[in-house]
Amino acid sequence: MKALARAARAVKRVLAKELFEHGDWAQRTETGGSEPRQEQLDNPAANSALVEQAAAAFGAARTGICRLDPLWLYSCDSEGHSLDDLAELPWAVVMLVEMHAAAIRESPRAEAEAATGLGYMKGSVCASALGALIRELGYRAIATDNGLGLSIPLAADAGLGEMGRNGMLIAPNFGPCVRICKVLTDLPLQPSQPSKAAVEDACRKCSKCADTCPVGAIDARPEPSFDTVCESNNPGVLRWPVHAQKCLSFWRQNGGSCSSCIAACPFTPE
Ligand code: SF4
Ligand code: SF4
Repeated sequence: MKALARAARAVKRVLAKELFEHGDWAQRTETGGSEPRQEQLDNPAANSALVEQAAAAFGAARTGICRLDPLWLYSCDSEGHSLDDLAELPWAVVMLVEMHAAAIRESPRAEAEAATGLGYMKGSVCASALGALIRELGYRAIATDNGLGLSIPLAADAGLGEMGRNGMLIAPNFGPCVRICKVLTDLPLQPSQPSKAAVEDACRKCSKCADTCPVGAIDARPEPSFDTVCESNNPGVLRWPVHAQKCLSFWRQNGGSCSSCIAACPFTPE
């Protein structure tokens, strides 16, 4: 079944050339040659509707839009190139793609890893196609999945859900059973409404993800805190800290990934 998990990422590997991972981001945002039209400059609401419609056509289950908070941007890419100038792209279009919940429930077996790989593949299609569309309209756009900045706070800012105890986005209707991808752009847009998911209250009364984690990476205490438990936790954030190094060590031990905290979450669809 490892073959299934590897196969599920095949198209993502091809599309990786379209998605930003490292290199010169300014070159990667070149437009398709068209000039921005006045009607687009004047009509952020119509641009947002177009972007949301296109993202749905490309396979996104939900799309949200927010102003890009530079706090969530990485300082550099994987090769050390500065990403500071990304703040020139003031908008983030954040898309969710749904993962196959029944396969995720097989975690930590390879079926769950295949569902994860397929989620990344679908996200690669959505993000690269939407980035291309916006560049065709004459605006700059750069597409990625986990690159450029932190996807979960961007998704929360875009009204797509809230961060749960397991450190993941919990989205209405899909829970944590989603992959996130995003496009940063200077196309004038309109922000989405905030989420009303009330996830924090639900997580106070539930610790299923923490109880399920095979390496104790998830904080089981009733209240969120400002504590940090490993170098991957940013200081000054009120949440249940996740020990990312412990989690990664289990992924290595498991010979792939793990989705057990997604499978255990009551927000994950049946
Ligand atoms: S992915 Fe697996 S190892 Fe990592 S936090 Fe979730 S349950 Fe724990
Ligand atoms: S399993 Fe429970 S505590 Fe963990 S994220 Fe889901 S609702 Fe929150």
